[in-house]
Amino acid sequence: MKIYEQTELDFKDVLVKPKRSFINSRSEVEITREYKFKWCPRKIVGTGIISSNMATVGTFEIAKHMMQSKMFCCLHKHYPVEDLIKFITENDCRDYIFLSMGLRDEDYAKIEKILTEYPDKCRNICIDVPNAYIPRVKELVIKMREKFPDILLMVGNAVTAELVEDLILSGADIVKCGIGSGSACITRRITGVGRPQLSTIFECADTAHGIGGMICSDGGVVYIGDICKAFGAGADFVMMGGFYAGCEEAAGDIIEKTYLTDQINQETGERLTAVKKFKIFYGMSSEYAQNKHYHGMPKYRASEGRVAEVPLKGSIDRMNQDILGGLRSYMTYIGARRLKDVSKCTTFYRVNTQLNTVFGD
Ligand code: 5GP
Repeated sequence: MKIYEQTELDFKDVLVKPKRSFINSRSEVEITREYKFKWCPRKIVGTGIISSNMATVGTFEIAKHMMQSKMFCCLHKHYPVEDLIKFITENDCRDYIFLSMGLRDEDYAKIEKILTEYPDKCRNICIDVPNAYIPRVKELVIKMREKFPDILLMVGNAVTAELVEDLILSGADIVKCGIGSGSACITRRITGVGRPQLSTIFECADTAHGIGGMICSDGGVVYIGDICKAFGAGADFVMMGGFYAGCEEAAGDIIEKTYLTDQINQETGERLTAVKKFKIFYGMSSEYAQNKHYHGMPKYRASEGRVAEVPLKGSIDRMNQDILGGLRSYMTYIGARRLKDVSKCTTFYRVNTQLNTVFGD
């Protein structure tokens, strides 16, 4: 038994120090950067925000909106291959779309078909396994890099330097980092495993950058400020699921709930009611997801995800505009003219209280 004594940090445990700068307005900052990768020879210009490959936000509809803002979408792996081919041939997907695969043979067959039969369409691949510490993940990274040397390859999930290093040296360009931090995740509750997201980013980004790789922080964004903190801590990409779950364009059944209000109907004397709309959002390892996308929950597995009802929040374009506005303001506060400079301009304060919640958060 061993214990690390140093306290690990999450987004909520820090705030960022403002610094004097030469930037007068948020319009002066550059919120895209040119990404150059360790293995993939292509360069991509974008803002490293990615919608997660969860069934409700890793969709074609969401992807179209993300691309418009030079942001990314990791498509979920439950689309039939014909649908994926139709989408990538009808849209210019080369840069902003990732195709997901797990360890199943069917996943490999699907990705292989697309990469070989449509070589000039989408060549960004995400190997997504909740626990990338199992040997088959590294084996698949090596196989993919050997067979398709030019692909942009993201793989996850990891939270420690050793695995990040191992996966990058085996052929990954980007390692997706985060275990247990997701809004629909109950891994920490049922296994006790996980690591606070900010400390995960510190360690994994430092290791990845030292050997020419990159990381994608995955999970745990509650506020737009958390995206800024993730970039500040060293993340090259920030992936979000729950944050987008309530937008109009997200998939997911809509439910309506009726509430009693404080207002009275003058004629009847009864309290008036109001209807609120919610979208169903679910973890990809939840029993709900297993029933929906596979044939139920295998006996050897426990559900590691939850089902949530998320209030409808408006359009994704509006949300992305708010994200970019927050990011611009952050860069102005810390004196970072380019997205690439954000982490070297960031200094964190450790705090006990992040927000004043007297009137809500
Ligand atoms: P969020 O942005 O909602 O906080 O986190 C999104 C991330 O949570 C996803 O990209 C994925 O890594 C993780 N995730 C999604 N579904 C599940 C699940 O059912 N169980 C666990 N442990 N993690 C999940």
